[in-house]
Amino acid sequence: MSILRQIAQLGQPVLRELARPIVNHLDPAIQALIDDMLATVADVDGVGIAAPQVYEPLALFIVASRPNLRYPHAPEMEPMAMLNPELLWASNDTEKGWEGCLSIPGIRGPVRRHRRVRVRYLTREGEICEEEYEGFLARIFQHEFDHINGLVYLDRVDSRELVTEKEYLRIVS
Ligand SMILES: [Zn+2]
Repeated sequence: MSILRQIAQLGQPVLRELARPIVNHLDPAIQALIDDMLATVADVDGVGIAAPQVYEPLALFIVASRPNLRYPHAPEMEPMAMLNPELLWASNDTEKGWEGCLSIPGIRGPVRRHRRVRVRYLTREGEICEEEYEGFLARIFQHEFDHINGLVYLDRVDSRELVTEKEYLRIVS
């Protein structure tokens, strides 16, 4: 039985902590946390959520890519938990794309990210995976990876380029 978790809003110190690695993925508390995060990100229609955003400073996040206005070709995928994620390689080419964050409601900003990344993580079953992502999926990974390092996307944005959610919807429509 999963529960919807409260989402830490910008200003909560937990969002600025360095997350701890997960030592035992079979710990029932970890498996329950993953279920709760999956339920929470689905409830708010998000494309990703990191454990620090639900007040758990652990190296764990959910990636839940699906097509959207800005990335109509984004892969539709079954939401997936990534434990102890590592960024193995990042392309030199970068691109700007709009981001928002469940912890920073009402605001969007263009963030420059690596277009392609190679990553390693543990699945919730404990399988080690190495994958290469590009475009929107690479962007989600980098956004969530920032969270487990105590960063938010605002740290990578020129504040003069920030827009309100309402303006964002006008811009991308
Ligand atoms: Zn975020």
